[in-house]
Amino acid sequence: MAYKTIYPYTNETLKEYPNASDADLEQALATGHQLYQQWRQEKPESRSKILQNIADLMQKKRDDLARAMTYDMGKLLTEAQGEVDLCIWIAQYYAEHGAELLQPVPLKTKLGDAYYLKQATGVIVAVEPWNFPLYQVMRVLAPNIMVGNPMILKSASICPMSVQMFADLVAESGAPAGTLTNLFINYDQVATAIADPRVAGVCLTGSERAGTSIAATAGQNLKKSTLELGGNDAFIVLDDANWDELQKVVPQARLFNAGQVCTSSKRFIVMDSMYDQFLEMLKTAFSQVKMGDPMAETTTLAPLSSKSAKEKLQAQVDTAVAAGAKVYYGNEPVDLPGQFFQPTILTDISHDNPIFNQELFGPVASVYRVQNEAEAIQLANDSSYGLGGTVFSSDLQHAEKVAAQVETGMSFINAGWSSTPDMPFGGIKNSGYGRELSDLGIDAFVNQHLVLKP
Ligand code: NDP
Repeated sequence: MAYKTIYPYTNETLKEYPNASDADLEQALATGHQLYQQWRQEKPESRSKILQNIADLMQKKRDDLARAMTYDMGKLLTEAQGEVDLCIWIAQYYAEHGAELLQPVPLKTKLGDAYYLKQATGVIVAVEPWNFPLYQVMRVLAPNIMVGNPMILKSASICPMSVQMFADLVAESGAPAGTLTNLFINYDQVATAIADPRVAGVCLTGSERAGTSIAATAGQNLKKSTLELGGNDAFIVLDDANWDELQKVVPQARLFNAGQVCTSSKRFIVMDSMYDQFLEMLKTAFSQVKMGDPMAETTTLAPLSSKSAKEKLQAQVDTAVAAGAKVYYGNEPVDLPGQFFQPTILTDISHDNPIFNQELFGPVASVYRVQNEAEAIQLANDSSYGLGGTVFSSDLQHAEKVAAQVETGMSFINAGWSSTPDMPFGGIKNSGYGRELSDLGIDAFVNQHLVLKP
């Protein structure tokens, strides 16, 4: 596989990167292991400064990092800048709270006083996707720096420019060698790394296909893994939803990052009383987007990340339509050279439509009409995924009750999806397992080391 930055707005190949050799991988493992041995002698407090320095340098290089992400996968520059800001926030959060979250936990047991330590376990392999090239990395890097677990990163092959820029920044910030080693490696080399005794675990964000493979390799080698996979999040609109709020939230919940977010709202499940009005609102919003140069502030919808991403989405929409779904709006060719996909609304998706249980990773909304709340919950749960979801209602308590019945990892009431350092992120079912961010995320790869003193 070749690591290349192909700008999805112009289709121009901006830069190619040579693959790392097996010797490069061995060097990274050795350096990471050495750092682990050093870090396990030191207290987490001593590593707060590393994260703070990274955050400070990201602030200085905010626009360079953001532009590189836009070149890699086409996202709007304003969204890329927001992503850098979120990374800085995550780094600062763990710099400030990490040491406290890693304090020994006292226990009263029948045999006497005890506690468990939260200790480093070794080098972690991170396999990360292209949709948020830096945020996905920071979600796992920041807590693991505090824990004392060095990281080897395998990024998506389509976003090498921003990821290498970030890895260089980490080194430039003064972080010790091995803190983050970005390697342009292939799948076999990833498997070799996971199997290596110096590696304690692997975290992946990506597709189910990648999750199955990575988890199998981890299992065969008795390594811990966390998986953040796809989603097909339900957005339930109840009869008493506040219309003004709904109009503000819905378009962005689907179109942010050109719809390429695992926690995007993808299935809008709307009560009969609101259905027609909802469709018209969505159509108006979708018809008002401005596609074009992702670097321009006036552009509101970016191209998709690659030619293959666009082709895959088009094939899914074609399949859906062939199986009886109706195009309420969109699905027309876009007269621009980049990988643009017109925002599209699909209705009448029957249970046996092949796309009923597929994630549509782009600006395509599936809208379902339901007669009552029980039907809405049943439809929301009729999915192999369980990542996020939204419930919209003017009655907050009632919305919470409905949310609690949805089989998912994250629920947002009267809001689209969001991610902040202090909220755990992750899902159930085929959306994966484990949590990133918050106090839960920092525990992902720690040794909860029990000490009993009877
Ligand atoms: P992939 O799962 O193929 O890629 C994610 C990362 O995993 C990339 O770094 C990729 O490398 C790597 N990878 C994939 N398979 C293996 C393997 N067997 N061994 C080691 N590394 C592997 O996702 P895509 O980018 O192709 O996107 C396809 C789908 O994935 C989307 O439609 C969406 O459903 C889901 N996805 C979910 C995301 C999320 O945030 N949860 C983010 C992105 C995608 P390489 O690039 O070199 O193939």
